[in-house]
Amino acid sequence: MKTPHVVVVGSSNTDMVVKTAELPKPGETVVGGTFVMAAGGKGANQAVAAARLGAKTTFIAKVGDDLFGRQAVAGYQKEGIDTRWVLRDPARPTGVALILVDQRGENLISVASGANEALSPEDMDAAAEVLRSADIVVMQLETPLPTVCRAAEIAAAAGVPVILDPAPAPNHPLPEELLRHVTYLKPNESEAERLTGVAVTDVASAQAAADRLLAAGPRAVIVTLGPRGALVVEKAGAGTAIPAHVVSAVDTTAAGDAFSGALAVALARGEPLLDAARFAAVAGALAASRMGAQPSLPTETEVRAALGS
Ligand code: ADP
Repeated sequence: MKTPHVVVVGSSNTDMVVKTAELPKPGETVVGGTFVMAAGGKGANQAVAAARLGAKTTFIAKVGDDLFGRQAVAGYQKEGIDTRWVLRDPARPTGVALILVDQRGENLISVASGANEALSPEDMDAAAEVLRSADIVVMQLETPLPTVCRAAEIAAAAGVPVILDPAPAPNHPLPEELLRHVTYLKPNESEAERLTGVAVTDVASAQAAADRLLAAGPRAVIVTLGPRGALVVEKAGAGTAIPAHVVSAVDTTAAGDAFSGALAVALARGEPLLDAARFAAVAGALAASRMGAQPSLPTETEVRAALGS
C-alpha cells in the first residue's frame, strides 16, 4: 500500500505547560505545580500526529529566526516530517503558548502567535505544488484566515480534500468561500456552537449544529464530543455517533489535534469516513490519557493495539 501524503498548514509554537492543582481565577496566584516545555501549536501537533501514525507528512508553517524556532524544526525532523516549508520570519519570534492544566485535565491556554501571523497567502502560492501533491490537506485557525482560505482554494482546485479543524473558534462565521473549499469540517462542541449559535450539549444539539454547517458546503461535518466520542454527519439529520474509546483522562490538551491528524491519515489511506473517525477517536483518547501536547500523541502501533482491544 502506498504511504499516504498528508500536508498540514498551521501553527508552530513552543508550549510552556504548568500542571497545577487548581486553575487560577483572574487576579489570583496559585503556587505549586510542575513545569514542562514542549513543542506545540495546533498545526505542529497535527503534523506530528500524522507522522507518528505512518503518513509521509509535510508541514507548512512559519517560525522565528530564534532558538525556539530552531528547536521546533529539529524536533519535527526527528519525527520524520518534511520541514522544507517551515519558513523563517526574520522579524517575529516563534509563537508561544502558555498552558495551565489542572488535576481534572481542564486547561487554560494563552497564545502569542508571533511568526505564525506572518504565514501569508503568498507563502501558500509558493507552496502550491506541495499542496497539490497531497492526498489530503489539514488546517486549523491559528494561522491568518486569508492564508487558510488561499491554501484551501489551491487544494480544492486540484481536487485534494481539505480538513478544516476550526480551532480556535472565531467570533464570526467562517467565509462562505472557505466552507465551499473544505471537504471535512471538524469542530469540537464549543467551536460548533461558536460557528452556528446552536448550544451544543449533547448528540441532538451537535446534530443540529452540524446540519447548519453542512448546509454551507463541506461534504461532512465531524463534531468531537470529548469523552462522548464524536458525531459524523454526511447527510442533514442523519449523523452517526462514534463512541469514545474509554481511557482515564489526564490532560486533554492535544486530543482534538490527535483526532484531526489521525482522521487525515486514515482518509488519505482511502479508509471510509466512519472507519477513519473510529481510528481518530482512539488517537484522541490516547492523547487525552497522557500529559502534554506532542509528547501525548500516539503511534500507529498504539492506536491499532487499542482499536483491536
Ligand atoms: P478538543 O481537544 O478539540 O476539545 P475533544 O475534547 O472533543 O476535542 O476530543 C477529541 C476527541 O478525542 C474526542 O472526539 C474523543 O474521541 C477523544 N477524547 C477526548 N477526550 C476524551 C476522553 N476523556 N475519553 C475518551 N476519549 C476522549
